[in-house]
Order: sequence, then structure tokens, then C-alpha cells
Amino acid sequence: MRDTIPRPRDAGADASEPDPLLLLAPLRIEARALRRGLRGLPDPPAVIRTGYGTTRAVQQAGRLSHDPFGQLMIMGVGGGLSTDLSPGDLVAGTEVGVVTCTSAPILAGELRRAGLPVRTGRITTVDHLVRRAERAKLAADGWLVADMESAPLAAAAAGRPVAVIRAVSDTPHHPLAGIVSGGLAALRSLRAAAPVAQRWAAACGTRQVLLAGPRSFCAGVERAIEIVERVLERQGQPVYVRKQIVHNTRVVGDLESRGAVFVDELDQVPDGATVVFSAHGVSPVVREEAARRGLAVIDATCPLVSKVHAEARRFAADGYTVALIGHAGHEEVEGTLGEAPDSTVLVQTAADVAALRPRDGERVAFLMQTTLSVDEAAEVAGALRERFPAVRAPGSDDICYATTNRQAAVRAVAAESDLVLVAGSANSSNSVRLVETCERAGTPAHLIDGASDIQLGWLAGVSTIGLTAGASAPPAVVEEIISALSGLGPLAVTEKVTTTESIRFGLPKEVRQ
Ligand code: SF4
Repeated sequence: MRDTIPRPRDAGADASEPDPLLLLAPLRIEARALRRGLRGLPDPPAVIRTGYGTTRAVQQAGRLSHDPFGQLMIMGVGGGLSTDLSPGDLVAGTEVGVVTCTSAPILAGELRRAGLPVRTGRITTVDHLVRRAERAKLAADGWLVADMESAPLAAAAAGRPVAVIRAVSDTPHHPLAGIVSGGLAALRSLRAAAPVAQRWAAACGTRQVLLAGPRSFCAGVERAIEIVERVLERQGQPVYVRKQIVHNTRVVGDLESRGAVFVDELDQVPDGATVVFSAHGVSPVVREEAARRGLAVIDATCPLVSKVHAEARRFAADGYTVALIGHAGHEEVEGTLGEAPDSTVLVQTAADVAALRPRDGERVAFLMQTTLSVDEAAEVAGALRERFPAVRAPGSDDICYATTNRQAAVRAVAAESDLVLVAGSANSSNSVRLVETCERAGTPAHLIDGASDIQLGWLAGVSTIGLTAGASAPPAVVEEIISALSGLGPLAVTEKVTTTESIRFGLPKEVRQ
């Protein structure tokens, strides 16, 4: 089989170079599509044709397993088993036979960003073409795609990073009779996906992950989620929640799938229904509206946000102008501003402090959004103290313990990392502040909702990755990220704990046992 030559590294190769990618395609037309997709790229990997069917795959795997390759990628077409697949869809294998490909979510994210339709799922290898009834059975067993070569070929990785991408040529709705058009669509996708194989290989390597501790859920977020869960348990669905209960797409998606309905405003809640207020708090106007509408309210506002509200009311009642240090448009800020709208002014920067026109310069107080950057907020507070020496500060820090602790923890890992990944959603203030904390420390950082947001280009040449999660990001996302990174090469995980947390908040009486 001529296409199996050259080997990934020939005899004259420089031994100091990292072992190369072994890129396999069973069929000639698949190998040709990949070569076309790689054309023009610097140092494209050789595409090795392994031949059709399981017997050849087993033979080739036996030979190739002794080659000095660094990582193994198998690409080809496959039969879709699920009815929601279409010809041309790509599937990044999570399990291929008995081989686990844990970097599949990262690979799928990269393919998606390249504009390709992609899913992750289990790929099975069979020794014959799969027909209608067998398709349904394999789908029922949880397989997404069937092919005739991947599983034995993947076993040749023998512990090295391995990935499999199959482009769907036929599906239950587009069976083998339509394989010409489906096959062409699959080959087009395969060709477009080829450059991603090279990027995946460049991102592979031995690494360590430095886990920041503490990270992930805080007491206020755990309480808010538990409140929605308990209301769902007691009242059944739907349960209305004003705004996202916490700023995290995973949490919101999970609760939505269990019957929570997230609304922007109370006019989307039916009269007399139960509504949960989010952890970020609401202004009194919203409470009044809920009372007027006869809604049953369960308040999931974090007690540390409620504390800032109470301070705003107290300072305003004492005749103070309240400078609220925070970010315009954030739900928490809107809620706090609403406590004393005539007495409270939002200040975001030192320039805002300079422009402040209080009623009485001797009666100025300041408060803070709970999830600010400790350093940035201190700058604005410093400007207030300079301009108004008699300024009153909150009785205790408004920036909450969880925000402060996560920033200190990520600062510690950033100092020893080439790159920091912060699990959290884009609208999560405390998560965004963690990224900024790293950047201020001179370490590049990226906010990711999950492993599929990791861009392969970030990882090339990176040996130490710091990893943390915002207070609203579930611990499971951190586990998912570690698992995905472990699919790119040997991964040592070390936790660096700067402080431990034991704070818990009680539940509101409406949902207590
Ligand atoms: S980040 Fe702080 S203020 Fe926000 S919910 Fe958590 S503990 Fe409460």
C-alpha cells in the first residue's frame, strides 16, 4: 500500500524535534481530501492511508504502534447513527471503541470556530456496512457514528494523545443509497477540518495545571441554586426566576432543563405565580411591583449583597451622598442604586470621583459592588478619600470574601503559569475580574465557559496552565477542563491553596425544611 510511505518521521529527521503527528486516513479519497486541506500550510503532516476495513486497520495499527510519533489523529468518513445528524456533519470522538479521546471537546470547539458543523460523541467500529435496523440499535446503545477502522487504529496510540474525526456521509434519513451526495459533503468537511488536525498536534505536549484554591461556587451562589432546586422540588415546573439566578450559562441551562423559566422582567411572570429573585438582588421598585401583582416572592439575593443594600439605605437616611463604586448596567449595581436613587451616584473611575457634586462634601459615603477587582476598587476609594477626607466607608468590606479570595488565589497561580484559564461566563463580573487580575500580573488569561472554548493556539508552547473558576462557575466545569487538557498529553495537576472557606448561608424560610 504505497500511501503508507513516508512514515511520519523519516530516517534523516532531526532527533531533537518533537515526535510528529501521525495523521491516518483509511481510504484514498479521504487521504486526498486531507492533503488538499493541508495544502499551503507550513510543514503539513504526512497523511498516511491505512486501507479499508477492520482487517487492514488491525494490521496497520500493529505496524504503526512502534513508530516514533507524538500523537495520533484518525480522520475519515463514517455512517451517522443518530437521526439528528446530517451528511457533512463532523463528529469528534469521545470514545472510539475502547479508547477514550478526552480532548474531543477542545477539538470540537476549534472545528466549530472554523465554521464547521460538529458534535462530540462515541464512535464504534464494525466489520461491515451498517443497515437500517442495526443503525437504530447502535444509536440506542449510545453510539453516534459507525466506521470500519477507527477503533483498531486508535489503539495504536498506546497512551499517546489520540483523536478521531469522522465526517458523516450517510444517516438514518440519508441512507447509503444517497452516499454519493452525502459522501461529497463529508469529504468537503474533512478537507476543511484538516488544518485543525495540525493545530491539535501543535497543542499537544507534557504539561502541568496549577489549580487555584479557592475557586468555583461561593456560599451565595450555592444558596441561590439550592433555592431554585427546592422550589422546583416543591412546586414542580415552571418556576419563574427574574434574571439569571447566577451569571453562568451552565447553571442556567441546567436549571432550565429542569423547569426553571428565566425572565428579564416581572411582566413575563403570570399573575399569582411564584418568582425567585436572583442572587444579584433587586431594587425596591421590583419588590413593589411583585407585591402589586400578587406574586409569591422567594428572595435568593446573596446576604452579602443585601448587606450593601442596607448600608445604602442607612447612609441615605443619614443625609449622605452615597458613591457606589461599581460597573454600570450590572444587575447588582442597578439593585443597589434603586435603594436610594436620589442619594446614590455610580462612580466607576477616579475621573468620576473628580466629577462628583455631592450635596455636602462633609457627608459623603462610599459603597462597593461585591464582585469588583480589589485593586481597582481601592484606587477609586483612594480618590474618594483624597477628595473627601471625611468620607465614610462601609462598616466591613463590600467586596465579598469569595471575590477577594479567588483573586488572591489566582494571583498566586498566575505568578507561576504561562497562561491562566478562568472558567466562567462572559457576564460574570467576578470571573471577568479574575482574568483582569492575571493580566495585571503579566500572565495572559482567557475566560472560558467550558473546555470547548479553549483555543488550540493558546496552548502551543505552554507548559504550565493556571486554572481557576469564578464564584458562579460549577466545579464540574473545572473537572471537564482538566479532563480535556489531559487528552493533549501527560498532565500533572497541583492545587495551590491560599485560603480555605467554610462560609454557608441559611435558606429563606419559604424553602427551609
Ligand atoms: S460572589 Fe460574593 S456577593 Fe456574589 S453571591 Fe458569591 S458570596 Fe455573594
